[in-house]
Amino acid sequence: MASILFLGSGGARFVVARQLRASGGMWMRFGETQLHVDPGPGALVRALSHVPPCNPRELDGILLSHKHLDHSGDVNAMIEAMTAGGHRRRGAVLAPRDALEGEPVVLPYAQAFPERVVSLEPSSGPYRVGTVEVRTSVAHVHAASTYGFHFACNGLRVAYLPCGRYFDGLAADYAKHAPHVLVINVLRYRDTMDVDHLTWDHAQRIVADVRPKVVIFQHFGTKMLERDPALLAQETEDRLGLRAIAADDGLAVDLDLEVAASAG
Ligand SMILES: [Zn+2]
Ligand SMILES: [Zn+2]
Repeated sequence: MASILFLGSGGARFVVARQLRASGGMWMRFGETQLHVDPGPGALVRALSHVPPCNPRELDGILLSHKHLDHSGDVNAMIEAMTAGGHRRRGAVLAPRDALEGEPVVLPYAQAFPERVVSLEPSSGPYRVGTVEVRTSVAHVHAASTYGFHFACNGLRVAYLPCGRYFDGLAADYAKHAPHVLVINVLRYRDTMDVDHLTWDHAQRIVADVRPKVVIFQHFGTKMLERDPALLAQETEDRLGLRAIAADDGLAVDLDLEVAASAG
């Protein structure tokens, strides 16, 4: 059984600062293995207050796609929770090097708590966390070192495409892994501002190229929220003939069920 619980579905400074959407990241379950990806501000509170609660002491790993606050704000709190305040050395933390060194967001004292701290490189792995194999994507074009994740467990392949600027070859790198499920961060709808984030149009191009069975959009900025992501996802579903879901705060997606349904 595999699932993703969205402890947040918001992204970008304004949405996160005002908590228009929560920013707790993704709690992923692959059988017995539990991973927390991108624990932004509020992650610990969201995890514990969810019904039924997510138990950080059962986490096998905490993963950061990159060091920006909306992805890492609660990483130290989650590490303390995973390791019982450092008293039980357990679990893995995987993050790009610049999240661990220099001006680290994973504080040095907290890096001593997990069993393993892995400094990620682009296009590398597999890194084994519990029963899951994790590989990193090519480096994204973003202000901090940013890598997507390719998860594989029991024949199910799930890709997470985090923040970054569109470039030729981005979709191809994800297509190569032929994910059944693609989670993709879409901050912006359509605008002329030159920023290191995907617009909705870019995301559509990527989904069309990668062709997963199920795509889940998340990490919405204000312009995306104004457009009603659920409606947009429905359009994608109709146009591309695949299952498309817009994440919401607290949304739990049963990946086996969705993949099986989309194959029918
Ligand atoms: Zn972000
Ligand atoms: Zn970022």
